Amino acid sequence: MVCAAPPANAGGTDLNCQLCMFTMKIFVSLVLLSVAFTTGFAQTKPPTESAMDRFLRYVKIDTQSAEVAEKYPSTEKQLVLARLLETELKALGVQKVRISDEGIVYGMVPGNLPDNSNVPTIGFIAHMDTSPAVSGANVNAIIHKNYQGGDIVLPNDKTQIITVAQNPDLKNLIGDDIITADGTTLLGSDDKSGIAELMTMIDILKQNPTIKHGNIAIAFTPDEEVGGPMDKFDIKGWGAKFAYTVDGEQLGDISNETWSARTATVTFGGRSTHPGTAKGIMINSAYAAGDFLARFPEMIPNRPETTAGREGFIHPYSTAMSEETSTIKILLRDFDITGLAAQEEAVKKVIAETQKKYPNVKIDYKSELGYLNMKEVLKDYPQLTDYAIEASKRAGIVAGLRPIRGGTDGSRLTALGLPTPNLFTGGHNFHGKLEFNSRKGLEKSTEMLVNLVQIWAEKGGK
Ligand SMILES: [Zn+2]
Repeated sequence: MVCAAPPANAGGTDLNCQLCMFTMKIFVSLVLLSVAFTTGFAQTKPPTESAMDRFLRYVKIDTQSAEVAEKYPSTEKQLVLARLLETELKALGVQKVRISDEGIVYGMVPGNLPDNSNVPTIGFIAHMDTSPAVSGANVNAIIHKNYQGGDIVLPNDKTQIITVAQNPDLKNLIGDDIITADGTTLLGSDDKSGIAELMTMIDILKQNPTIKHGNIAIAFTPDEEVGGPMDKFDIKGWGAKFAYTVDGEQLGDISNETWSARTATVTFGGRSTHPGTAKGIMINSAYAAGDFLARFPEMIPNRPETTAGREGFIHPYSTAMSEETSTIKILLRDFDITGLAAQEEAVKKVIAETQKKYPNVKIDYKSELGYLNMKEVLKDYPQLTDYAIEASKRAGIVAGLRPIRGGTDGSRLTALGLPTPNLFTGGHNFHGKLEFNSRKGLEKSTEMLVNLVQIWAEKGGK
């Protein structure tokens, strides 16, 4: 809004310009007022360290977990971050800070209400590990300042490109500072964003005692990516009545629904003998395993690469091969528990076809339940996601419920009796080199968390 160039009549110009300035002043005041009103954030003291700066520190620490583990944490290096967080939590005045044998960091932010028992203790969880799928060593975070649109080519491997076509949310990030890796590693936004946001929330609450909240339980977990030690999670000692994982993706995505999950193992039994004297004796189980896999594209239409949204899938993901015994592991995923039963039948049909072709190979099928869709429990606690949607709204974010095509620590905690939906972190493209978040993503997610603990204090009661 600018004053137009003066016309020939000077007197008229002055009047016009004064009017224009007056209108502009009113407009600016209204904008400032509405910003202060809608965010409720205008009067808060800033944290001692921003969510962005914390995030950039945490991603430098390699915390990759390992798929095959005899104990938790699956990798010692996760404890480097655990110990740092332990120190930082204590410095922020968090109480009961400890690291369990499995590497879980626990803490409690005491409430500041006249009677904290009027408000349920709310838990927040973020995970420390990064996916075994892509290296998380020597992460070199790149800040693309004041992003002006277009595809983002990652500098150290120019074949790694974050495209607008595949990431439509980029259009909402014009003017933002986007954070990526350099193209050779993942970034670790999953889930160091969640950790940085929670630490900054605690910092903001410490700097602003006027923000009222009940007791807040905090946990940082190892090995979330490899189905970590949640069965050992000390739900009782932690003390939360309800909890949230802060492990979601783009701003506004809140989830009270995950897959129901089974893992199937198909074993092919052959007969091994020395290859030099194998004629007429050896039965190489690997051929039957290969035949079984080769039938998938035709017989199993719902695979990860062909499905989206609420469609389930069947996904062979790991094999071991020898003449005597070969095994194939398969993920079965569906939002509906009855869908899993149908998937098991579909896999058994493929087995039957392979068996016809390889009658001498003994084929066994077994499967085990991983976790159930948490909506089965969370439907009885709609306030958890209602409050999170309200907290987002107060931060200026339009939020909604979106099912997760995966599992979270919350899936298992919910099954163990602690209702735990999932909140957004601002991150994108988890588990890959194209992972990114942004300054706004980190800051707005933090603001939502601060709003959320206030809303629980306002609502009180159950
Ligand atoms: Zn995660």
